[in-house]
Amino acid sequence: MVFGLIWKRFSSILVIMLQSQLFTKTRREAPKDEESVNAQLLIRAGFIDKTMAGVYSFLPLGLRVLRKIENIIREEMEAVGGQEILMPALQPKANWEKTGRWGKMEDLFRFTSYYTKTDYALGPTHEEIVSPLLKKFIFSYKDLPVYVFQIQDKFRDEARAKSGLLRGREFVMKDLYSFHKDEKDLGKYYETVKTAYFKVFERLGFGNLTYLTFASGGTFSKYSHEFQTLSDAGEDTIYICDKCRVAVNKEIIKEQKVCPECGSENLKEEKAIEVGNIFKLNTKYSEPFDLKYRDEDGEEKEIYMGCYGIGPNRLMGTAVEVSHDDKGIIWPESISPFKIHLLNLGKDAEKEKCDQLYYNLQKIGMDVLYDDRIEAGPGEKLVDSDLMGIPWRLIISEKTQDKIEVKRRGEKEIKLASEKELAKILQ
Ligand code: ATP
Ligand code: MG
Repeated sequence: MVFGLIWKRFSSILVIMLQSQLFTKTRREAPKDEESVNAQLLIRAGFIDKTMAGVYSFLPLGLRVLRKIENIIREEMEAVGGQEILMPALQPKANWEKTGRWGKMEDLFRFTSYYTKTDYALGPTHEEIVSPLLKKFIFSYKDLPVYVFQIQDKFRDEARAKSGLLRGREFVMKDLYSFHKDEKDLGKYYETVKTAYFKVFERLGFGNLTYLTFASGGTFSKYSHEFQTLSDAGEDTIYICDKCRVAVNKEIIKEQKVCPECGSENLKEEKAIEVGNIFKLNTKYSEPFDLKYRDEDGEEKEIYMGCYGIGPNRLMGTAVEVSHDDKGIIWPESISPFKIHLLNLGKDAEKEKCDQLYYNLQKIGMDVLYDDRIEAGPGEKLVDSDLMGIPWRLIISEKTQDKIEVKRRGEKEIKLASEKELAKILQ
């Protein structure tokens, strides 16, 4: 068992972490039909590939980033009591008719089975599935509250899909749904999730650029909230109050021109990306699906619901939009495909040293991509490394002798360190 694990780990290291073995290649030019910076850089660096507008494949390096983002979200959702499930993307028409959204939702993908002539939807969101699902498990006040979430592919017939990973027609969403005995309990949990969302954005490296934004709550509550990250690539316009670090979106500014927290009229217009959205649904979906429970006195009551969305693909695109330069991506360590990019810029003698360092770094638990390619020259390796954007670049060459050159992506300073010093710097 132990041997099996070690062997598996070792073999996966050999396959994945050596750049000579990586099947993807970097590209000097982005595809002509790709307008967004995030998709251009991610395609050039070999992280993703475009199948058609709004639909992408994730390649080994890109998938590592996506999985890291998903895991950060997963940890924060579990920390607030979320239980992970996985619901289907393929959904029956009847559920969508029940809520009246079959005919109303413009971006719902609908299609008919060739064999049975039955109509289906490809899920753009999951209230229509999660509400009848939880109805099978909630009977009394003792069964509440419940929090379930999934990290799953969504499909939306987006009119415009020109922003790379920011707006896909197929994309990953983490959607959390909460079920409560009353409005007060929902309100309390809603605040807990708000805090959890900010932890996610902090860990992804753009907490300082992200604002809680007041949006319309629809017919069921006064406000909903968005999380908006400042970026010129954003499709949204928000109005920020720097004193409270909150913002209002366009729908709200038309009704009220003041900060909802402090009443200040001093709001600044900014471009932003909506990275998350939370909503008090109250009884909007429990009504059509007859979602009820018995309270302490045996009385039947309606269940209150909340929903909380966040898009890992969009977060990955956002990370690139807010952190890159003219050479390429600059990943924050938390979601970089690897912590370290080790380059051998020398010849045979250096290769031996570099192999040993690669081995030693792995032994102390470091996540390393090793550019061991023989056919690529030093210039090419340096350009590729900047494009890929891994935070720590280590170089061994004829010039470095018994030291290692250390540089952080996005910084100018270059240091020479012994292996011992290096271990300290990296820890
Ligand atoms: P938008 O206004 O940008 O279309 P939305 O209000 O439709 O977003 P929600 O339905 O609240 O978005 O979805 C929750 C989260 O899922 C969003 O905050 C975003 O992070 C992500 N998301 C939504 N649509 C897309 C998409 N087309 N591509 C990638 N991520 C998306
Ligand atoms: Mg939308």
